[in-house]
Formats: sequence, C-alpha cells, structure tokens
Amino acid sequence: MDFEQCFPLCQLRSNDIEGRYVVAAKDIKEGETIMEEHPIVRCPPYSTKPVCLGCYTFVQKDTCFPCPKCNWPMCSEDCCSKEDHLLECEVFSSAGFKVKYHKFDYENFEPLYDTLTAIRKLALKDKKPTDWQNLKSLMSHLDIWKKDPRWVEEHEFSANFILENVTMNVKKDDILGEKLKLLALVTSMTFLPLLEM
Ligand SMILES: [Zn+2]
Ligand SMILES: [Zn+2]
Repeated sequence: MDFEQCFPLCQLRSNDIEGRYVVAAKDIKEGETIMEEHPIVRCPPYSTKPVCLGCYTFVQKDTCFPCPKCNWPMCSEDCCSKEDHLLECEVFSSAGFKVKYHKFDYENFEPLYDTLTAIRKLALKDKKPTDWQNLKSLMSHLDIWKKDPRWVEEHEFSANFILENVTMNVKKDDILGEKLKLLALVTSMTFLPLLEM
C-alpha cells in the first residue's frame, strides 16, 4: 500500500482485534480518491465453476483451450501467457502435474480452483519477492480461525492438494503446522506474517 498516496486523508491505526486499519483523518468528498494500490494477487472466486485463469470468463469442456504446459482449461492460447496464469502454470508444469480438465465439474463448482489462491501467493516468493514481503507483513488471523472446525474443514482439500501434489518447498517436517499455514494462505483475507517459507 502506498501510504504517501493515502495521507493526509487517512490515518493508520491498529488494535489487537482488527490488526492495522485506516480511519478518515478529515471529511472526504464523494468520489474523492483516498488511496491507490495494485492487487498483490488476483484469484478466481471461491467455489467457482471452471473459468479461464487469464481473463476469468467461464469455460466449457468442449470449447476450452487446454494450456500446453499445465493443462488448465483456458479460453484461448493468448490467455496461457497472461501474467496471472503464469504464477500457477510454472508450479504445475515443474511439478509434472497435468490438470485433468476433462474431469472437471462444469455445471456446479470445481474444487481445484480453490487451491489457486494459496498457490499464487506462494509463487510470489520467487516471482515477485517485494510483493511476497508485503503479503507477509499483513496481519494473520490464523490463531482465531484455526479454532473453527468449519474453517479447517472448508479449506483442508486445498492444503492437502498442495502438500501432496505441488509442494512448492513447503516444509513437511511439521505437517500439521504447515497445513494450518496453508489453510490461512488459501483464505483470501488471511495472511501469514510468520510464514518461514
Ligand atoms: Zn481467457
Ligand atoms: Zn499453463
């Protein structure tokens, strides 16, 4: 976040519950820009039907363009080289994991898409180290969330998939600890300041 762009309209505050947050420092006019920042990662929505990982339009089994490197179903050859997709494309291709796109559920939702938020974040470490550092500096709510069995259950598939298929140098010596860190990475709003990867 570029705070120079934000001040003097906002002030940075923090507390033990919310972590860091901003409050208005003066009256803000309707439509006035208060800050500008680029997204660290863009990801498909949670519980989505299959979408192109370059432009996020829905794709279908019979008309999609499977990426030659990783086999994720894309809308076209052009989208295979889009910056967003390259994050996971390299991960899947270097792990030798070919996505079985013909077995996806194109009518309801396809769980493999839920793994991509964590995979794209983890891929930043090598691809965009500055963004990775910014990501790690955000507050984690892991201590609170990991006590909720529904939260763990909801994200366990993604964590297991990464540990078993595209490990991405995630340390396996403490599998439960790593799984919880991954669960937090899977969840868009939660980040890991203590992640040692
Ligand atoms: Zn596309
Ligand atoms: Zn690809």
